[in-house]
Amino acid sequence: MTSRTPFEALVRERRVLGEHLVRLVLQAPEGFVSTGVPDEWVALTLPGQFQSRYYTVRSVADGLLILDVVVHEQGLVTEWAQTDCVGDRVGLSAPKGSFELPADAGWVLLAGDLTGLPAMARIAESLGSMPVQIHAEVPDGPMPDYVAAPVTWHDAPSGTSNLAAIVRDLLWPEGPGYFWMAGESAQMRDIRRHARHVLGWDTRHYDVMGYWSGSRGRQTRQVDPGPVYARGKAMGRSDEQIWADYDAARATSEEVVQRPSREERA
Ligand SMILES: Cc1cc2nc3c(=O)[nH]c(=O)nc-3n(C[C@H](O)[C@H](O)[C@H](O)COP(=O)(O)OP(=O)(O)OC[C@H]3O[C@@H](n4cnc5c(N)ncnc54)[C@H](O)[C@@H]3O)c2cc1C
Repeated sequence: MTSRTPFEALVRERRVLGEHLVRLVLQAPEGFVSTGVPDEWVALTLPGQFQSRYYTVRSVADGLLILDVVVHEQGLVTEWAQTDCVGDRVGLSAPKGSFELPADAGWVLLAGDLTGLPAMARIAESLGSMPVQIHAEVPDGPMPDYVAAPVTWHDAPSGTSNLAAIVRDLLWPEGPGYFWMAGESAQMRDIRRHARHVLGWDTRHYDVMGYWSGSRGRQTRQVDPGPVYARGKAMGRSDEQIWADYDAARATSEEVVQRPSREERA
């Protein structure tokens, strides 16, 4: 346990939900209190590691906390989640959430790739009678049992994403609503610009979050959303502005990581 991951949780069960999705059922740590915000996430730290990765709390109830982990080509959590990790103890941060429905919203539209699916499923469960449309980009075909709401399923290109093009072609419902989207960062940057400059939306009406970056190789350092989020909140910035700050910080870190060393340039 550290100050950033104040909770320790036992992995009670590991279930394969699909070729690219593994469910981890953790014992909810004592004192862990959900924010109630339906896209809430935690930083997950693996045994013996100091780096964290971020995962949506798919559910927390009856003493159990569920995380659904996308298994992609390579990665710290990806590789660990494919092992028999039952019995391991992981570190968890306090949860944070971003989804904030404006009072005048008459509809909700959710779009995401497989990493955004746990949050979309939980958001859909929280909406009551609010009309919701969901667009999910997934690698292994429709997963109707995963989400208790109608979903338009889109095939994901192998190891990457084409979500921005899908969202650009959508027909939007009439009147004010709320658009929530999560997935690959470059796709999210594209749609954030589209929402602001083409659709002319107020930032209260959309929340577009980069969950992973396709342009980055495996690396030992990542930009930590925790401090970016805390700093942004302290400065009174909106969630939308904070996510844009986070993407910008990640883009800078990618440049640093990818820039050849002095020796390589010589
Ligand atoms: C708020 C938030 C909530 C999130 N919720 C979830 C969730 O519920 N479930 C979930 O699975 N992920 C979720 N993510 C995304 C997850 O944190 C990243 O995908 C993370 O990088 C995966 O860690 P890793 O150790 O497996 O791979 P890393 O070691 O971080 O990355 C290794 C390599 O894999 C690439 N990569 C990373 N993620 C993907 C991917 N999804 N597809 C293809 N290539 C990838 C990277 O570019 C890098 O080259 C969330 C992210 C955020 C910020």
